[in-house]
Order: sequence, then structure tokens, then C-alpha cells
Amino acid sequence: MINDWIKPSIRFKITGKCNLNCNFCHKEGNMEIDDMIPNDRFIEVIDKLTSGINSINVKITGGEPLLNQHVEDIVLKFHHHKKINTISLITNGTILKSKQFWLNLKNNGLHEVVMSINNVKGQDEYSNNHINQISNLELLSELGYNIKINTIAYNDFNYTRDKLSNLLKLKKKYNFDIVILNNLFDIERSQSIIYNLIEYFSMKIKRIFVREGTSNQIILYSNKDHSIEFYIKISYRYFSPEYCNNCEKKDNCYEGFYGSRIEIKNGKYYERLCLYRNDDKVNLAI
Ligand code: SF4
Repeated sequence: MINDWIKPSIRFKITGKCNLNCNFCHKEGNMEIDDMIPNDRFIEVIDKLTSGINSINVKITGGEPLLNQHVEDIVLKFHHHKKINTISLITNGTILKSKQFWLNLKNNGLHEVVMSINNVKGQDEYSNNHINQISNLELLSELGYNIKINTIAYNDFNYTRDKLSNLLKLKKKYNFDIVILNNLFDIERSQSIIYNLIEYFSMKIKRIFVREGTSNQIILYSNKDHSIEFYIKISYRYFSPEYCNNCEKKDNCYEGFYGSRIEIKNGKYYERLCLYRNDDKVNLAI
């Protein structure tokens, strides 16, 4: 039962720097990369990637993309490109930014902010990181951004349930979607926590979204009176006939073939097609 196709998108890793070091982070495959600069070469790369297609969505990621000093101009360059449709920014939200900064990004064409929140009440709620996340969330909500909160199912069921209950309270105040993701480094325990959450909150599938030809699948769950809704993103391990056949890492590859990530290494642009490998069959020079 597929209800919708997720529109094609490309992830641009605009920096390898991050102010955190989360043990569940897959680091988009590799963080030993350069910062992207929105120069003529950057535009040329977008032109190449979008030739032959009508339009595509862009996800700006890292590392922590707010650590790239050119982030405002990068958003603007994407916005001005005729083939780019929507622009999302994926951040840990822990670097406190001003209202003017978020307003500039919005005016430059940013549509959506995806923030990862993995704190749980009583453990990290009052840390500076979490205080900054809430301050940023307040500004994003006030400015009318589309907001998604990503959260990983890890540790144990109680930990994740408490975290989710907190997020559901915050959702009422700041109006965002919640996406629960599995931990690729502890897949069985993580997925079992997610299935237990679905049972605990008596959730039923409402819609399924899939990106054709990739392992990107997201399922919207809702309870009976629709007072609780969240999305689940569980790896379902689609393997590309072109890149994954005969791959030695297939048995332990929990993301599967997800799609393109663009990065710069030693001054050269690459299209990364796989989290787990670093050879030139899956890292294509652009
Ligand atoms: S490791 Fe990469 S190439 Fe191998 S099966 Fe997984 S996604 Fe495919």
C-alpha cells in the first residue's frame, strides 16, 4: 500500500565539521570533506546533476551545515537555480542563531528545517544544547517554517518513549512533524523499540511514502482519534541492481541504496552513492 512517491532529492554535504559527536550518526558516509563554496564550480555541478530532469528537491546537510559560513549564500544559489524545487536544511539545531539569520535564510528561499532532537526530559533537557534547540525552534515556528524533528530510537524503550512524549508536548506548541528513525548501528534493538512504540500508542498506518528506486521509505502513523501522529523511517534495504549486486558489504548494509550525496574532497566534487564504501564505483567524480 504505497500512497505517495517521495519526490527525487539530492543531499548536498556542505561541510564535514560538526559541533557534536553522536554515536548513532552515520556521518553521511564520510566527514573528511571540504566546505562547499557557492562559486561558479558549484553552479556547474548543479547544472550537471540536473541536466535531463525537470526539477529536484535539495537537502542541505553535513556535518552540521550551520558551520559553513556560506550557508546563506548557498541557499540563495539553490533558490535561483531554475531546476531546484524545494530546499531543506538538516541541522542539530544546537548552535543558537538569531531571528535575523533564520529570516535571511527564509528570504533566500529555504522551505524547511529538519532538526535532530535526541534529548530526554530529566537527562539533557536543561543542557545548553537543548536550550539552544528550543530557542531556534521558537524562531522557526514564529517565522512560519515547515519544521520536522528527527529523533533516533536508541538506548531502550522507556528512554525513547519519554523522549517521544516530550516531543509530542513540544509539537502542540511549535507545530512540527515528528520523524522517528532507526539507529543503523544497532538496527535490531532500534527497530524493536519502534515497533513497541507503535503498539504502546496504539498507532495505525495512515500513509506510506516511498522514493522509487531507493531504500527511502517513510510511514505516517496516527492513533484512533488522530491526537497523536508521527512518521517512522525504517530501513527497508532496497538494493540497486546497478551498484549493489556483488557488493561484499551487502549482508551488513542496513541503509541499502538511499540516493545521491554530493561532497567535495581535496577540492573535487563527488557524487556518493553509498554510506559504507569509498571506492570509485560508488563515489563518482563530477
Ligand atoms: S554497501 Fe553500498 S553498494 Fe553495497 S549493498 Fe550497501 S548500498 Fe549497495
